[in-house]
Amino acid sequence: MQEKLFNTIDEIYEEIVSLRRHFHENPELSFHEVETPKYIANFHRELGHEVREQVGGRGVVAVLKGKKPGKTVALRADFDALPIQDEKDVPYKSKVPGVMHACGHDGHTASLLGLAKALHSIKDELAGTIVFIHQHAEELAPGGAKAMIEDGCLEGVDYIFGTHLWATEPLGKIQYKSGSIMAAADRFEITIQGQGGHGAKPHETKDSIVIGAQLVLALQQIVSRRVSPMDSAVISVGSFEAKNAFNVIADSVKIIGTARSFNEKVQTLLENEIKRVVEGVCLAGDVTGTVDYQRGYPAVVNHHEEALQVGILAKTIPGVLEVEDMIPQMGGEDFSYYLHHVKGAFFFTGAKCPTLEKAYPHHHPKFDINEKSLLISAKLLGELALYYTNEM
Ligand code: MN
Repeated sequence: MQEKLFNTIDEIYEEIVSLRRHFHENPELSFHEVETPKYIANFHRELGHEVREQVGGRGVVAVLKGKKPGKTVALRADFDALPIQDEKDVPYKSKVPGVMHACGHDGHTASLLGLAKALHSIKDELAGTIVFIHQHAEELAPGGAKAMIEDGCLEGVDYIFGTHLWATEPLGKIQYKSGSIMAAADRFEITIQGQGGHGAKPHETKDSIVIGAQLVLALQQIVSRRVSPMDSAVISVGSFEAKNAFNVIADSVKIIGTARSFNEKVQTLLENEIKRVVEGVCLAGDVTGTVDYQRGYPAVVNHHEEALQVGILAKTIPGVLEVEDMIPQMGGEDFSYYLHHVKGAFFFTGAKCPTLEKAYPHHHPKFDINEKSLLISAKLLGELALYYTNEM
């Protein structure tokens, strides 16, 4: 059955590539997806799959029932794009100004649709049920996953798997990990309200820039002095804004940054410590400080057995050259929510372009993927579906 599935995937490679290029040319922003979910729903409907649209807003869920009893396995692919201008010089370049598939979600979707078609062709031999979760709005919090779950996309599902194509890792490489694989990604915005005035008379002001500069340094001590060396965390300030003339003392300063961690204990510690440090530094500087702390997606924590199984099955997939028990990465993903409800795992599929001298990172205006990786992601997700639907 595995061989038949893989052969079919190989046979429809051209179609998978043209699907990917169709999505690449017609990207849609998070929470503004209209044509993409329609296209996906039609594809499944033509195959004869049961389809539900507008799940949790803009998501699509399709169901393929096997002829034999078995478990229910969900496979997830996201389909939103980013507010980035496509600067690639390729025939399938984005047709929408300022919008681009710069994270490979077009590939996730094409690969899953190709797999759906291939699985459909062996449906008489399939056990259990396969649920295709096509998710909108991964790139923008609160994301599509949570709303799709609340709208029932995981009802009756026993296992879930998903992958991210990774353009800076070589083709043929699969990365998996038991436990935390991606970080909780939070956002904080600090406003320091001082008292502006003339640069020549600092003693008559409350200089929010001086206090803000102290605060940026004090924030760096949270990770080095408050978080256990055995845990991982990041606090990065990405924006420090106080627009003024050269001889003016700023009235207020806005500091924006991100805090990342791999578990809720550390996440809560970061939030509390940031608030405490702002309070303390501002008290010493005799200014007012306010913190707006927004929790993003929680950390993606893979289930142990299922993550190890990804590693085992990856070695049986044609084209896979290297299987790595990876170091977790600090990016965020709302796949985390699915894993709060059902067992499963998220993994990375190497997708580095052979034509590029260097691989452009995700969210770069020249980002691209190696389309051969679509075969590998489809085969490994397909193999996981076969394995877990047959699980007793
Ligand atoms: Mn992504």
